[in-house]
Amino acid sequence: MLNLVIFGPPGSGKGTQAAHIKEKYGLLHLSTGEMLRHEIASKTALGLEVESLVVSGQLVPDELVTEVLKKALAEKMSQGNGFIFDGFPRNGEQAQILEDALNSLNLDINIAINLTASDTELIKRILLRGETSGRADDNEIVIKERLEIYRKNVSDLISFYQKLGKLNEVDGEGTPQEVFERITKLIDKHI
Ligand code: AMP
Repeated sequence: MLNLVIFGPPGSGKGTQAAHIKEKYGLLHLSTGEMLRHEIASKTALGLEVESLVVSGQLVPDELVTEVLKKALAEKMSQGNGFIFDGFPRNGEQAQILEDALNSLNLDINIAINLTASDTELIKRILLRGETSGRADDNEIVIKERLEIYRKNVSDLISFYQKLGKLNEVDGEGTPQEVFERITKLIDKHI
């Protein structure tokens, strides 16, 4: 089993890269952002509860997002060669929650990928994505809020995986193909 975490600021391309990684290595892609957007679109009780937070770029409380993640983990446990976690964890507490959940299943994270890019590049990408994504949070006002929240929480995430010796920084600038090559080089070293 190969279990990866990919984190990076909004617009860093983690969703795109996670989808490529999933294909190449036969992993299951678990994106909490996607799961939450699905709950909102389906107008479930949870979706209605989290909608205003997601739309305004705020983080959803740990308990709620953990519930969604654990449900998906349990459902998909036996289906692939491992998982790629995209958008979870987003803070130190969530990193510990994920570690405990995986350990209780006798699993572990093998590699944590920190995808980086400059704010100028990120804002440019998100505005471009907003033209077609239909995402209510892909607009200029909410982007700034999302970036700020990300930067506030990321240092705990970095030190969590650094302590475990699993942290790897990957330059997220360049074409998606260039970034993917950097990531595959890293993963191939570990398998
Ligand atoms: P993403 O698709 O990863 O950019 O996530 C979109 C939005 O979903 C975020 O701005 C948050 O509102 C919410 N969200 C996704 N993952 C998490 C998480 N791990 N913790 C809290 N909120 C989350």
